[in-house]
Amino acid sequence: MNYICLQCEEQEKIPLDTVRSFDIMDGGDPTVPPQFSCGLCGGTMYPEYYKGVHGNEYRIEDVRSTTAE
Ligand SMILES: [Zn+2]
Repeated sequence: MNYICLQCEEQEKIPLDTVRSFDIMDGGDPTVPPQFSCGLCGGTMYPEYYKGVHGNEYRIEDVRSTTAE
């Protein structure tokens, strides 16, 4: 699945199994999806779309500034 950096728009493909594992181990705030650090700028990478193990859905549109271009 696709992860996108909120700062530099870098995209990275992360296997769904990996994300799921993070999600399950995380056990924290279900309103926040598993997030990774960008390899380029160290920013937060957010899933383009992800449905979590608890049924929560996350979209990049939810956290992206709507005023950007
Ligand atoms: Zn970045």
